Amino acid sequence: MVGRGLLAELPRLLAERCPAHAYAVVADSRVAELYGARVLATLREAGLVAGLFTFPAGEWNKTRESWAELTDALLRARVGRDGAVLALGGGVTGDLAGFVAATYLRGVPWAQLPTTLLAMIDASIGGKTGVDVPAGKNLVGAFHQPRLVLADIETLATLPRPHVAAGMAEAVKHAVVADAGLLDAVLSDSAAIRAKDLEALERTVARASAVKEQVVAADPLEAGRRQVLNFGHTVGHAVEVRTGFALLHGEAIAIGMVAESLLAESIGVAERGLAAAVRAALERFDLPVSIPEDVASEDLVELMRVDKKTRAASLRFALPSALGAVRQHEDGAWTVEVDTAAVKLALDSCR
Ligand code: NAD
Repeated sequence: MVGRGLLAELPRLLAERCPAHAYAVVADSRVAELYGARVLATLREAGLVAGLFTFPAGEWNKTRESWAELTDALLRARVGRDGAVLALGGGVTGDLAGFVAATYLRGVPWAQLPTTLLAMIDASIGGKTGVDVPAGKNLVGAFHQPRLVLADIETLATLPRPHVAAGMAEAVKHAVVADAGLLDAVLSDSAAIRAKDLEALERTVARASAVKEQVVAADPLEAGRRQVLNFGHTVGHAVEVRTGFALLHGEAIAIGMVAESLLAESIGVAERGLAAAVRAALERFDLPVSIPEDVASEDLVELMRVDKKTRAASLRFALPSALGAVRQHEDGAWTVEVDTAAVKLALDSCR
């Protein structure tokens, strides 16, 4: 559900979609400070049992250690099988709290209350939960679908601008892989989006989240077409890990999309011009479009080998064939195998 002021309607919506004896609201330190008390008050005023469980903000806290602390805290609070988890925050909170919900007492229901543009457009939809481990991002996790995803656009009023831009990286991704019209829409709304106009943001969230919803509904366990949503993420995750999370997730994905578009052109999957169009769109939202100078292409290739999307020693990519389209390959796969020499050349040209 996408709209303004939806958090005020939480008790009614939970009663309909995610009824429970008690609610464990999980939020990072920053979001707890901004919205924790308000959400707890809304739940308690409606007579619901609710508690707030927090962890320190930041991607580097999306770990097994945070998962252990949160699950221990829920056990101490005696949250039972009839309890539910509410993930209040960005994609880090959604992934972590979702993994808590997937594993706590062998799984309890949960709802997503995304408060970043990135989480509203992408991370809160589709049931992928998990944590980062030293070998790479999101390598330990589970599919666990939320009963409800509630994007209250008003929470974006407090979101810092770089995080608005980072969210737009995922909107551009959805447009490039599945909806060329979405790209035209966000480009014509770009000034309003950058100014954080809530109406423009609501339009963007509604349309971009619908793309994600359609793709994951058709392939919830990523057996096939859902893989197209990984466009930009094979290179992007490697950039994220190699830079020690100095870049925001959406910023790293922006760089990844340019590099993978160049790769798609160089191996003949896409026509010339795709990378220039992707780069121009990302630049409209002040996103980075080249690999940082101190990051060697060889290092990125090595990191991609451990990415969960690679099999054996080969590198596989989900590559668009044109703006708004990913073609299924002759073998029926949605991803294509590319030799590492071609990958390295594409990375070298993304400078
Ligand atoms: P995030 O959750 O770390 O949020 C970014 C920052 O904004 C945090 O410091 C947070 O405290 C703060 N914040 C959140 N809401 C706010 C608000 N309304 N006002 C002010 N500050 C606010 O990061 P993110 O960019 O939302 O998500 C990135 C994560 O999402 C990555 O870990 C990525 O792997 C994951 N992700 C998951 C999926 C999926 O399908 N599960 C898809 C895409 C991305």
